[in-house]
This record gives sequence, structure tokens and C-alpha cells, in this order.
Amino acid sequence: MASRPALPRTLRTGLRCRCPRCGEGRLFSGFLTVADRCEACGLDYGFADPADGPAFFVMSGVSIVVTAVWGVWAATVQPPIWLQFAVVVPALVGGCLAALRPVKAWMVAEQYVHKAEEARFESHGTHGKAPEGYKSGRR
Ligand SMILES: [Zn+2]
Repeated sequence: MASRPALPRTLRTGLRCRCPRCGEGRLFSGFLTVADRCEACGLDYGFADPADGPAFFVMSGVSIVVTAVWGVWAATVQPPIWLQFAVVVPALVGGCLAALRPVKAWMVAEQYVHKAEEARFESHGTHGKAPEGYKSGRR
């Protein structure tokens, strides 16, 4: 019997909302607030800044799934409009709230593994000067 392939480590730690390095310490100190550091291994979570990424992916994914199910349900069963609102709006809000935390943790784990961070520009004080040995071709 073939064994199931294991989930990638980043996805496993993300779904459990745990530290991307040790997989044990909690990532969040609040609902979506990233803790300062891992309580188990001491990893500084200062690098963790997924910005609007989790919200975008969760809203898009949940909206597509709920809208597809809603469309099939509305076309086949034809429920009254009040029932559609009573089911679909909580499904959209609840689905987003349920998925946001693990998706954010997953994106933080991906940031950690791929060493993704804000671009930094360092000045070497040579702006406007041609590198040594460079000939511009102007006369
Ligand atoms: Zn840790």
C-alpha cells in the first residue's frame, strides 16, 4: 500500500499556527497578531510581515468557493432570497475568519523558509559616479 505524501513543512506549521523553525511555539499572540518571538526556540518573528497577502488570498478563495456552491444551490433548489442571504453571508464571513489565521501562518512560514523580506537599498556613496574602469563612450 502506497503511503500518502506528507504535506510540506510550511503548510503543516501554518495550519497549526506554529513557529516556522521549530514547529512547536505559537506564532500568534492574538487572533492575527504575530508574537514577538517563539516561546519554544526563541526565533525572532520580526521578519514576519505578510501584509495584505493572507487577506487577499483568503477573500478570493472563499469567495470563489462560496459563490460557486451558492450558484449551484440557487439554480437547482431555488431557495427564497432571504434564505440565500441567511446562508451565504455567514458562509462568506465565517469562511474568511476561519481561514485567515492558518493562511497567515502559512505565509509567514513561507517567508521564513524563503528568507523573503522587504527590499533594502544600501548606498555606497557612488551615485552619479561611473565605476572604476568604465568608459562611457562620450567624448
Ligand atoms: Zn520556534
